[in-house]
Order: sequence, then C-alpha cells, then structure tokens
Amino acid sequence: MPVLVMKFGGTSVANIDRIRRAAKRVGVEVAKGYDVIVIVSAMAGKTNELVGWVSEISPLYDAREYDAVVSSGENVTAGLMALVLQEMDIPARSWQGWQVPLKTNSAHSSARIEEIPTDNINAKFSEGMKVAVVAGFQGLSPEGRITTLGRGGSDTTAVAFAAAFDAERCDIYTDVDGVYTTDPRIASKARKLDRIAFEEMLELASLGAKVLQTRSVELAMRYNVKLRVLSSFEEMDDNAGTLVCAEEDIMESKVVNGIAYSRDEAKMTLISVADRPGIAAAIFGPLAEAGVNVDMIIQNIAEEGRTDMTFSCPVDQVMRADKALSAAKAAGSIDYSDLVADKDVAKVSAVGIGMRSQSGVAAKMFKTLSDEGINIKVIATSEIKISVLIDRKYMELAVQALHDAFELEKA
Ligand code: ADP
Ligand code: ASP
Ligand code: MG
Repeated sequence: MPVLVMKFGGTSVANIDRIRRAAKRVGVEVAKGYDVIVIVSAMAGKTNELVGWVSEISPLYDAREYDAVVSSGENVTAGLMALVLQEMDIPARSWQGWQVPLKTNSAHSSARIEEIPTDNINAKFSEGMKVAVVAGFQGLSPEGRITTLGRGGSDTTAVAFAAAFDAERCDIYTDVDGVYTTDPRIASKARKLDRIAFEEMLELASLGAKVLQTRSVELAMRYNVKLRVLSSFEEMDDNAGTLVCAEEDIMESKVVNGIAYSRDEAKMTLISVADRPGIAAAIFGPLAEAGVNVDMIIQNIAEEGRTDMTFSCPVDQVMRADKALSAAKAAGSIDYSDLVADKDVAKVSAVGIGMRSQSGVAAKMFKTLSDEGINIKVIATSEIKISVLIDRKYMELAVQALHDAFELEKA
C-alpha cells in the first residue's frame, strides 16, 4: 500500500471537535487506499504551558527533565486521535517516540533524528492497521531517555517519517492555507504562494517563519520528500496549499519572495574587550558550550588594543549567555569592562533566490526602512537573504513596508 504522512499542528488538534475534523480528513485518505502515518502536535498552547512550568521551577533547567515534561503534550493527542479514528471504524494505533523507536542523538531540547526503524509500524500495517498515529516532536536518546526536537519539531518528525517510509507525500496541516509571502497575521496583503523553492523555504524558516521548522525543510530537501502545507480548516483538493519543491519546478520567481521576522531577539555587546588573536574563539566557544544560539556578530575596529564585540541571540538565552561570559571572565580567558543586553530588538529579513544575480536589494531595503524612520542596529547578509536587527516596536511596520516595497502582493 502507498504510504501518506499527514501532520496536524497544535491548532488543528486544539480540542476534541478539531481532532474529529482532522480524523475525518485522515478517513478520506484511508478510503483512497493509503496506509496513513499521522503525526500530531500537542493541543494549541499546551507546549507553552509545559515550558512555562519548567521555567518557573528552574530558569536554567536540566534539559533531560525539560524534555520529559514538554514531550508529554503530544502523547495525549496521539492517544485521542487513535481513539477518534477507532470510533470511526478505522483501525488505528498510537505510537510514542520511544515505541517506534524514533532514535535521536542526546542533544536534549534540540535533538537530531538519527534513525527511524520502519519494521514495527510496517508489521502492524500488514496486520491490517490503517493508521499509525505518532506523537510528534519526541524521540529516544542513545542513553534511553526521551528527547525533543526543538520548538515546531513535529514538522521534522513528519518529514523524517515520510523519508523513512518512502511516503508518496508529506502533508502539513496547519491554521493557514499555505506558505505566504510573509506572515499573514502581520501583513494583511500577504499573498499565498502556490510553490516555493526548498532554499527559500529553508531561509524563511531559519529566519523565523514558523510555518515549517527549519530542520523539516532541510530533510525534505535532502530526501526529496514531496512536502505540502495546507489548512485543516478549509476544504482542500489535491492541488491546494503550497508545494515546497526544487527551484527548477518553479516557473517564475521574483528577486525577493518573502519577508520573515523573528520577534524575540536580543543584542548583546561586550564593551572594551582586550583584542588579541583568539579573542573571538574565547568568547564564542563558551557561548556555544552553554547552548547559546549566536546569530549575527559584529566586531568593531580596535583602538588601543580594545574593541567592542556585538552579537545577537534569542532573548530567552540572555541569562545563559551572561552566565557563560561572566564565568569566562572570572576564569581569565576573556577580559571586558561591561556586558550590555538590549532585549527589545527583532530581526526582519528579506529572502529570494533572485538576489544571487540581482544587485540593489540591500539598498532598497535600507532606503525603505529609513523612509519609515527605522534605525538599523545590525546587518547580516548571505547569498539569498538580507537581515536587519531593529527595535522590536517597529517590527510589524518594517515587515509591511518591505512587503510593499518589494511588491510582494502582486503575483
Ligand atoms: P502549527 O501549530 O500548525 O505547527 P505554527 O503556529 O507552528 O502552526 O505555524 C503556522 C503559523 O506560522 C501561521 O499561523 C502564521 O502565523 C505563521 N507564519 C509565519 N510566517 C508565515 C508565512 N510566510 N506563511 C504562512 N504562515 C506563516
Ligand atoms: N508541540 C511542539 C511545539 O509547540 C512541537 C510542534 O508543535 O511542532 O513546539
Ligand atoms: Mg509549527
């Protein structure tokens, strides 16, 4: 039997009614003759609640226990979905990560999938089970402990299952009807894309467009998974939603195809760092060890052997970063006078593969922001993106202004 993977995000399983509605869709695919692997997220808001409880107890929590707690939301929805399907006379069974077992490395709270053995689930399919409902977001470490794949990780579970089972398609059901030129919740003029290239989706995701987890796009690209994003609320036919596909499969593309944002950024500056060979390694080594995801970096010109070093990271990692750097300072491996954290910044990015061959995109972006009176604090570029760090209060304005400037509402 051909296999189909269907993933339902938090809002699509937010209550029993929604689970029933999602199950109906699963029923439609089963009726077409598919063996279906359903990947479920926790009910909307559940994971945030669980994370909140962990942080309340322990701001610098033990990541193994964090995973033990936050993975639990998916267990509930997997069981409920299997029950609803059974009530519809569809043979279904739930699977937690460890039962598959979905094997990951030991990087708790952001684990990487290493292997998904297919024999257990396939054996059940051959015994007549029609739907395997798998708890997304979770796996099993080599040490035998539960891991999680990072926020939004159920998308990655879904794509990894599609690759492992050689599924015909991986459908990501969510609360919007596809991938848009920017977050439709922020810019009412956002336009749905029928197709988007893997590379662009990868950039948009890594720059904050949470519609797909970055790692899921990476995996889909590597294993050539047919990946589709669509709404679980509207009636959808087989061509609905957005297909994430190879660049060659897209007829026409603009220079900029999407605007992404990441709201919860922080900018940290080490003032008057003693400048010497190896200083960057001495700063960013301890940060990496502490699990701080450093993004943009600027080093100023040194004067009299001292310089300022600025970097950005997620705002909830400021405490970790502070602790790691203070410890390095106390140990004598770095020397700086002060550490200043600006916790009110956001990152806004323009993405497009057309940038590879067209100049002037950065200039247009900077001019647009300047016309709105928005000050740019840090700039970073790559082949197909330009990112700026700005005051968080201007984030929505910047997204809308850039969406207008690059005429993204027009097809
Ligand atoms: P789920 O719970 O189904 O995984 P998410 O909340 O993780 O859903 O992702 C869907 C959300 O992603 C949308 O509600 C939307 O606000 C946001 N989003 C951000 N950027 C985009 C974009 N470019 N296109 C579509 N949605 C986007
Ligand atoms: N429930 C997890 C989260 O909210 C995983 C997911 O939904 O993809 O991040
Ligand atoms: Mg998600």
